[in-house]
Amino acid sequence: MPLPPLILKKNAHRRLRTGHLWVFSNEVDIARTPLTAFVPGDAVEIREHGGRFLGSGYVNPNSLICARILSRDERHPPDRAWLVQRLNLALALRTRLYPQPFYRLVFGESDGLPGLVVDRYGEVLVAQITTAGMERMKDDIVAALAEVLKPAGIMWRNDVSIRELEGLPLYVDTAYGTVPERAIVEEHERKFEVALAGGQKTGWFFDQHDNRGRLARYVSGRRVLDVFSYVGAWAIQALAWGAHEALCMDSSASALALAEHNAALNGVRVGVHKADAFDGLRALHAAGEKFDVVILDPPAFVKRKKDLAAGRDAYRRLNQLGMQLLAHDGLLISCSCSHHLPADELLAAIQSAARHVNREAQLLERGAQAADHPVHPAIPETAYLKAFFVRVLSEPR
Ligand code: SAH
Repeated sequence: MPLPPLILKKNAHRRLRTGHLWVFSNEVDIARTPLTAFVPGDAVEIREHGGRFLGSGYVNPNSLICARILSRDERHPPDRAWLVQRLNLALALRTRLYPQPFYRLVFGESDGLPGLVVDRYGEVLVAQITTAGMERMKDDIVAALAEVLKPAGIMWRNDVSIRELEGLPLYVDTAYGTVPERAIVEEHERKFEVALAGGQKTGWFFDQHDNRGRLARYVSGRRVLDVFSYVGAWAIQALAWGAHEALCMDSSASALALAEHNAALNGVRVGVHKADAFDGLRALHAAGEKFDVVILDPPAFVKRKKDLAAGRDAYRRLNQLGMQLLAHDGLLISCSCSHHLPADELLAAIQSAARHVNREAQLLERGAQAADHPVHPAIPETAYLKAFFVRVLSEPR
């Protein structure tokens, strides 16, 4: 049976023809295909105003992004076999890129699977659905993942608040097999234990893989401060590459406990400092502490576009606090995972911070999300991570 149509207004198809996958609710010809006729998650055929087929996908009448395209093949609407195909494509990229099975296996729109994220922790997969349409396909997703990867277990981390905008419940659940409480991740030959059900996001931030790798040539013999450290990924990599000391700062006691545990797993030691980052940085400054390398890897300060002004200011203040703690000729690694904060604006915030504390900044490297988080060229939202490596000098006297 053909899927019910969702017909767009005149010319509203242009963005989709260039490759975008989203339909906004004001682009639908609601006289011909009222959105109210659909229930969140219904499968539809998206058609141009003139009737031409654009793609099949799913709809959510209650969401600003009211439909997403899954497949542009008119003869093959998305089903389990289609999911298997998509997953095989996603897996082929990752196995090419990574010698070990630790990576983001599926990155939503960028892998042609809007609303689905899957992270791979060896034998265990942690998956997250953010749209009603994908939620409908839940059983097929589990079956397809089981078929393609033959994992020991699959877990749903469906506890992100954006699900509420789609009218979906929040839950964490074992979807398949057995899922241990903790898993091991290997990155640059170091081992990290992470909490799967109780950790941040799915347990580990795979997106910083390449940027943490860039640390190697900067840290030997240096004193490092890892702010927003979570389970100590940056600090422990720095120590493994010869840093002489590293301090992890985070507001989460359980994250810091894992950081200490992970340091021991790798035969090194980290110091830990539980604090709100802004307060903690001020306290270290007041105590006259100095570091050679300061890493700032905060959660997104600009979650929505309207938070841009406040968020930009928070990045500036944070970078200023971080720079104050840098010894002469130090290295600031300043990250932002806010899509809504363009790279140039983060750089401007860093430069403004440098002027405020009378320091000179030199941008050495700019990093982005690792290739297991591919960018969809037509969907700017899929490019989000920035990591600037900045040399910070005191003015010569
Ligand atoms: N750097 C980490 C990822 C950081 S995720 C890595 O590479 O794996 C963001 C971290 O910031 C979380 O661990 C969270 O507990 C912490 N956090 C959030 N708000 C904070 C605040 N105001 N002060 C200190 N830590 C905070």
